[in-house]
Amino acid sequence: MMAQAVIELRQVERHYVQGERKISILNGADFALSRGEMVALVAPSGAGKSTLLHTAGLLERPDGGDVFLGGRACGRLSDDQRTAIRRNDIGFVYQFHHLLPEFSALENIMLPQLVHGLPKAEAGERAAQLLDYMQIGHRANHRPSELSGGEQQRVAIARAVANAPLVLLADEPTGNLDPTTAGYVFDALSALMKQSGLAALIATHNHDLAARMDRRVTLKDGKVVSL
Ligand code: ADP
Repeated sequence: MMAQAVIELRQVERHYVQGERKISILNGADFALSRGEMVALVAPSGAGKSTLLHTAGLLERPDGGDVFLGGRACGRLSDDQRTAIRRNDIGFVYQFHHLLPEFSALENIMLPQLVHGLPKAEAGERAAQLLDYMQIGHRANHRPSELSGGEQQRVAIARAVANAPLVLLADEPTGNLDPTTAGYVFDALSALMKQSGLAALIATHNHDLAARMDRRVTLKDGKVVSL
């Protein structure tokens, strides 16, 4: 028997209506991610990568089919229940870091933990540990504007995993970085994933990074297919 997927999409439908036309983006999409697995989502702009990530991450509801997190069907849950799952089980990273400018790197990683109810000391300890894993422990007290692009993205990744989610969903996390820096950020993320068992679906245009992941998928006619 296969291990249960941490996240699974079954026959997911997603379409947009533009005037008279219905544009189908996801059309019976199936996808499953196992614990510890790192999968690259490689597809041209406009193919539906963000739609897939947002649907998988419970930011958007599918028009058909369902998304399962840790085996639990999420389609019929209330908005509040979906928000709770999103906060606890899903980490997001975007192309631009969206760190809070008035807080230090450490504080940015502490905040989601404090919202989650962790005591300050514990949140601070975990934030420091995550910064170490991302190899930027020495930057803990710097504000985002004092960090390089690569450092900012490492902090954004650390923040996304601060509450130990089941899955990390990343939309072009290194899209804004030069190839060398992108490689370093990816190395740090891989190391973090190995020690945590986290699973990740990472949309990227970077073929070198995609080649280093466990497998690669793309979107074709609204379905997720292996590359
Ligand atoms: P990607 O991330 O691969 O670039 P997206 O998922 O952002 O692709 O978008 C897929 C397609 O869906 C695009 O053609 C886009 O214009 C369209 N689309 C995305 N969001 C909306 C929306 N809210 N309303 C209408 N069309 C949308």
